[in-house]
Amino acid sequence: MGEEIKLKGCPFCGAKAVFDSDDHDWQWIECTGCSASTESRVSYADDCKPLLAKKWNSRVGGVEAKGNG
Ligand SMILES: [Zn+2]
Repeated sequence: MGEEIKLKGCPFCGAKAVFDSDDHDWQWIECTGCSASTESRVSYADDCKPLLAKKWNSRVGGVEAKGNG
């Protein structure tokens, strides 16, 4: 069992952020409120959750708001 990774609230709306993933073994962090997400998607093959969390929590450079078009 890995240790729990704590994510800060969304830098844009303050909502809770969660790890998300798709069917192609990529994972990222996404806001449950405004769908802002880390721009980087990383493979399950690496132990990358801490890196994603660091990126998200630092709120610099790696987090982008997702527009509706
Ligand atoms: Zn948000």
